[in-house]
Amino acid sequence: MQQTLAIVKPDGVARNLIGEVVARIERNQLAIKAMKMIHMSRAQAEGFYAVHKERPFFKDLTDFMCSGPAVVMILQGENAIARWREMMGATNPADAADGTIRRDFATDIEKNVVHGSDAPETAAFETGYFFSGLERN
Ligand code: ATP
Ligand code: MG
Repeated sequence: MQQTLAIVKPDGVARNLIGEVVARIERNQLAIKAMKMIHMSRAQAEGFYAVHKERPFFKDLTDFMCSGPAVVMILQGENAIARWREMMGATNPADAADGTIRRDFATDIEKNVVHGSDAPETAAFETGYFFSGLERN
């Protein structure tokens, strides 16, 4: 069993895609162990994406992530990290496979609707960033 962090990013919430994303998660048999809506502060967005601090898109990305509410979730299941990333599709929607969330709904490489942890270590950091131990067991 693995846990991963999923986010419906501010573009997804603004475009009424929470239900669509949640429905896909449920159809794919990933258990939603925790879920809440938050409006990240700039500092919280910067802390979350600290690995990208040196990237040219960091300022735009963190502006975007604190531009409105987002829905954060912990998903659980066998191989949950890879399964959720497969459902999301590639970062750039132009490269994302048919039937993935980003292919179907993303606006561009930045406004790409969803986030998913990319490895067990990042999943541990990211789930702990938004949820306490009590909220996820
Ligand atoms: P995420 O971490 O959000 O799940 P990802 O793992 O597919 O996405 P990362 O490389 O971790 O992609 O980039 C984090 C986020 O930064 C992307 O989802 C996107 O919103 C933004 N981003 C990535 N590359 C670019 C870029 N070249 N230009 C603008 N924004 C970008
Ligand atoms: Mg990433």
